[in-house]
Amino acid sequence: MLVEAEGMFYRAQDGHSVLDATSGLWCVNAGHARKQITEAVHKQLATLDYAPSFQMGHPLAFETASRLVELLPAPLSHVFFTNSGSESVDTALKIALAYHRVRGEASRTRFIGRERGYHGVGFGGMSVGGIGNNRKQFGTLLPGVDHLPHTHNLQHNAFTKGQPAWGAHLADELERLVALHDASTIAAVIVEPMAGSTGVLLPPKGYLERLREICTRHGILLIFDEVITGFGRLGDVAFAAEKFGVTPDILTMAKGLTNGVIPMGAVAVSDTIHDEFMSRGDAAAIELFHGYTYSGHPVACAAALASLAIYRDEKLFARAEEMAPAFERAAHALRDAPHVIDIRSMGLVAGIELAPRPGAPGKRAYETFVTCFERGVLIRVTGDIIAISPPLILSEENIDQMFSTILDVLQTVS
Ligand code: PLP
Repeated sequence: MLVEAEGMFYRAQDGHSVLDATSGLWCVNAGHARKQITEAVHKQLATLDYAPSFQMGHPLAFETASRLVELLPAPLSHVFFTNSGSESVDTALKIALAYHRVRGEASRTRFIGRERGYHGVGFGGMSVGGIGNNRKQFGTLLPGVDHLPHTHNLQHNAFTKGQPAWGAHLADELERLVALHDASTIAAVIVEPMAGSTGVLLPPKGYLERLREICTRHGILLIFDEVITGFGRLGDVAFAAEKFGVTPDILTMAKGLTNGVIPMGAVAVSDTIHDEFMSRGDAAAIELFHGYTYSGHPVACAAALASLAIYRDEKLFARAEEMAPAFERAAHALRDAPHVIDIRSMGLVAGIELAPRPGAPGKRAYETFVTCFERGVLIRVTGDIIAISPPLILSEENIDQMFSTILDVLQTVS
């Protein structure tokens, strides 16, 4: 149980201090209890606590959208607000379907996701997602969805720093799916540029470029789910699209948008997509029958604007890049630790994969997680993979504490 948080640390209910090596759930990128955000939220609650976004508007929503567009690579220039990553994904999928329909290509209804992908828990996100356990309780999900193979391969890529060299050819599987289903039936391909929840899988060099090229050639929209990778996680720039030099047609975000303080998500679309909707019909018509009661909530917008101001004023994306070499060195120093079979990293994210305990997959990593917590470091585990994704404000001392604790614990778990 966590009861307080400030800066890089939580306080647990029993009073012990816990270093946050996971930014909460990949979202508290500027660290906890930032005064600027708290005050902005407080002030907004007392000024305009709620405004409908159907037929009506309020200035903060437009200001937030404009700030985001400054951070996004062109031509992503229009923003639709949601309240979570899952809603962002379902919104992106609906925009893709509706876009093809307004252009007269209503046959494009299929989505292509990827094995081991995570896109939240809505029916759309679950359907394009590729983590078996997240799907199996819920029946057949959306029809007309297919999946690319994942890119994880320890034989070729173990202990890679940054993007792995092997695996670009796996993008060619998209050609196979296009040949199977025909491009005229496919609306969009959705991937996380770096798969996070499944255990930090970085895209092989050239892989995203190939996906982009195949999508463009076949008129298929490319969606990047940047719910985890957004807001400086990979260092240097706001979004992975810019980091990897590959621009999608639609980009989803959430989490770090408000530093995790107030639920909020967003979907950015290209000019082309926006204009297809907005240039048709009369001005009073509804262009896209989609939206949430809390889309562009004024208090969430206040939190987002304050978070984005901190990222800018403290140059936190550049700071993530600056700290990345020390973080990478410390992560890869665990290479010879007991049970470790792979370490992968970029910016301020690292995945440490453990050999599963025979007959008890996930158990070794879970015990590592519990013991690390008892010893004052919050890590995240998925299966037998430890994921580390600290706030971008971390110090070298924090880096030492998180990795030396993990090392100590790995030496004790069986
Ligand atoms: N997409 C990605 C890539 C995610 O990592 C997540 C959550 O971790 C989601 C979507 C879902 O976000 P939320 O939990 O805010 O619905």
